[in-house]
Amino acid sequence: MTDVLVQVQNVAKFTGSRDRDVAASAMTEVLQQLFHATQVQIWNVFHVKDVPHGIVVASRSVAPTAIHAPDPASLLPLPASRLLNDHSELALCLERLESVRGQDASTGEHCLVVPIKTDLQQTVLISLARQSPWSDDSVRTIEAFAKIYCNFLNLLDYGERDTLTGLLNRKSFEDTFFKETQRFSQFPGLSAVPDNRPQGPRGLWIGLVDIDFFKKVNDNFGHLIGDEVLLLVANIIRASFRPEDRVYRFGGEEFVVLLIAQEENQAEAAFERLRQAVESFKFPQVGQVTVSVGFSVVCDGDTPSEAFDRADQAVYRAKKQGRNQVCMQEKREAVAKPERDTLKNSVELF
Ligand code: GH3
Ligand code: MG
Ligand code: MG
Repeated sequence: MTDVLVQVQNVAKFTGSRDRDVAASAMTEVLQQLFHATQVQIWNVFHVKDVPHGIVVASRSVAPTAIHAPDPASLLPLPASRLLNDHSELALCLERLESVRGQDASTGEHCLVVPIKTDLQQTVLISLARQSPWSDDSVRTIEAFAKIYCNFLNLLDYGERDTLTGLLNRKSFEDTFFKETQRFSQFPGLSAVPDNRPQGPRGLWIGLVDIDFFKKVNDNFGHLIGDEVLLLVANIIRASFRPEDRVYRFGGEEFVVLLIAQEENQAEAAFERLRQAVESFKFPQVGQVTVSVGFSVVCDGDTPSEAFDRADQAVYRAKKQGRNQVCMQEKREAVAKPERDTLKNSVELF
């Protein structure tokens, strides 16, 4: 086989799935085989209070036991996350946003870290290690693979994200709900809650955030200002939760949060913090905007719409009780049909 054919086949390998975990895993496989690396890891970088952390989303090494199988449901859980602000090549690469080579003093292995920045400003680091040094040619080839991988991530983002806010969209919620619930259950610190508790065993919560009287904002200030309020509220929501929680724009002025919390009072406190953050924010021109939040635990066996419906009923109650408040819906409460069926018609066009 010619070199070109091998390279093209490799590109086909990691762009062959719409699933980003499978793509990441295929990417590590391709790089490991092509460059005889002893280890290849892909890191997603996130910041907690401006301190950079990394989560390994795919990892492959020559030791067969260490190979992370390309199983779409098995994202590595949080223990793989680590602080990146030491003096490692990872930190240097993150700081300079360019490829960095180095050598491990104890093992003598040569390492290489190549950065990627997606259109949505997600930084991804690809780290490789091997016995022989990284030549300029091999670095350039890996950078070219990284560029294709980045383009592919941008394409996936495009289909999963809301264009106004950059948050995940509703389709993504429905498509990945089961996978997300699996992923959350692997997080450490979520010891199993006894099954007889109404909260269910997962420690995963769904919250629906609905802006109060948003129609009035549009009516009084126009749609452009309305869009700006949506964007600012989206930013406040994103900043109110941890990177491992998930935030979706569900259409219109409604947002969904999948939140990891062991206890009901922790979940409630997180949503209450968000409510207060919106209430106290001074929106340019508009002034004060408030949100009503409904939340419920996500139970084993929930479909996306069952979980959503409970949060929606809680929002309905919050609205009825005067808005600008957080309400919870118990799983054991009878699931009466909500008076407005938001899931079926929540994408409001105007
Ligand atoms: P409530 O407190 O009961 O939630 O009242 P509300 O006015 O927020 O709710 P309602 O459902 O009556 O109105 C939602 C409004 O959101 C109507 C629609 O024009 C507006 N809207 C939906 N999507 C967008 C958008 O993308 N941009 C802007 N500017 N407005 C939007
Ligand atoms: Mg609404
Ligand atoms: Mg509203």
